[in-house]
Amino acid sequence: MLQYDYLVIGAGSGGIASARRAALHGAKVAVFENRTIGGTCVNRGCVPKKMFWNAAAIAQAREDGEHYGFSVTDNQFDWEKFLNTRKQYLQKLNTIYQNNLENDKIDFIYGTAKFTEKSVIECNGQFYTAPNILIATGAKPIPCILPGSELTINSDQFFELEHRPGKVAIIGAGYIATELASSLHALGSQVHILIRQDRLLRKFDASIGEHLTRRLEEDGIVIHRDAGIEKFSGTDNNIVIEYQNRVELVHKKIEGFDCVIWATGRVPNIEKLNLPGVGISADPYISVDKYQNTVVNGIYALGDVTGQAELTPVAIAAGRKLAERLFAKKENSFLEYENIPTVIFSHPPAATVGLSEQEAVNKFGSQNIKCYSTAFVNMYFSPTIRKPRTFMKMITTGPNEKVIGVHLVGEGVDEMMQGIAVAVKMGALKADFDSTIAIHPTASEEIVLLK
Ligand code: NDP
Repeated sequence: MLQYDYLVIGAGSGGIASARRAALHGAKVAVFENRTIGGTCVNRGCVPKKMFWNAAAIAQAREDGEHYGFSVTDNQFDWEKFLNTRKQYLQKLNTIYQNNLENDKIDFIYGTAKFTEKSVIECNGQFYTAPNILIATGAKPIPCILPGSELTINSDQFFELEHRPGKVAIIGAGYIATELASSLHALGSQVHILIRQDRLLRKFDASIGEHLTRRLEEDGIVIHRDAGIEKFSGTDNNIVIEYQNRVELVHKKIEGFDCVIWATGRVPNIEKLNLPGVGISADPYISVDKYQNTVVNGIYALGDVTGQAELTPVAIAAGRKLAERLFAKKENSFLEYENIPTVIFSHPPAATVGLSEQEAVNKFGSQNIKCYSTAFVNMYFSPTIRKPRTFMKMITTGPNEKVIGVHLVGEGVDEMMQGIAVAVKMGALKADFDSTIAIHPTASEEIVLLK
């Protein structure tokens, strides 16, 4: 039995951040991982997705360039070359992560870990014990279980595609469906999205989903609303999708797809951990209190496995807070899960912080909130044929008009939101935005000019 202070299951963003912070405070730490170091974010999520998004942004800029006077004769995208570039970058990150653990004298154990007792982990036949054990095993795509599901792929498999799909259908209405759809479209694929309801991104302020859904349609993506998927058939190069339009009650059949991506959400990665054996249940996520404590003393969980704002920086922050509490005697160290800013990396991106209008009404009552919004054509599009609109909305409450939500869709909002989130977290009032001098000419100046 090997003795440690802290055992961390999962070498993703949250697990590594917590392990390293614990080691910094002198803890003897081991980290277990059965896939590639870095977890979803580095290998199958944020990082490869952002590179893909960047490539799509370049493709769009090249098209727009023609209207600025550039001669754009060859706008071909070399998918294989891009894949290699991306692989090299990811490998570099994997090495950096590995080196960081070594430098911090953290033992990295490659293998599948499982609980044998509340304070004991078994991995590759070796037993490890510690008074503190963290579960940070993340999540994985919800599998498709419909007939013909073998013709579909998930987001993990998407990142391994060796060729650009010609005609692709994406099932789902969340972050992943929206992001993959718009980047694939910008890179030249014909894209269809099938959604169960009337708009994308229903978890956000309604204006975000409405604007983005309309914008993607204007750009040429085909959106099938109210679609209850029934089955997939055909061949790899001609996949047929049958669905029922749930409002019109008509059966529909669309075909000719060489790629179908199932992106309907994610579920926690827990089945190999033997959680029931130590008295932890999950439904589907592991429940934790504000200190990331599970129901078992000495066992903690954070990140996607808990379903609390499934975002890399949230897992990192929660992991560090926990390590500070356990190993730096900061007894009241915990992460506040309010006012978390987030960006959907679609083209254009959407960014949001704080409450949606509906949440604000539910919390404060409609008579106690005020909404400001604007929609305008970004100056960037003055010479181009396409004239998409940027949308901005601010929600305030009370007589002093405290800003409690900001929701943006349009070019550049991904880079605007971080600063706005600082102001919202500090409790900024509408008057603070109003008294801030605009930066001209930018799209972001509109946020301090809202009337
Ligand atoms: P999401 O939870 O964002 O969205 C999935 C959506 O798919 C649901 O909200 C639902 O929308 C729809 N859906 C569910 N079941 C079905 C079904 N059977 N048929 C059709 N549609 C269905 O999941 P994702 O997989 O997109 O992303 C998982 C998580 O990963 C996100 O919640 C996010 O936290 C994280 N992530 C973050 C990113 C970022 O920070 N930029 C990028 C990617 C992921 P509806 O109810 O409207 O039908």
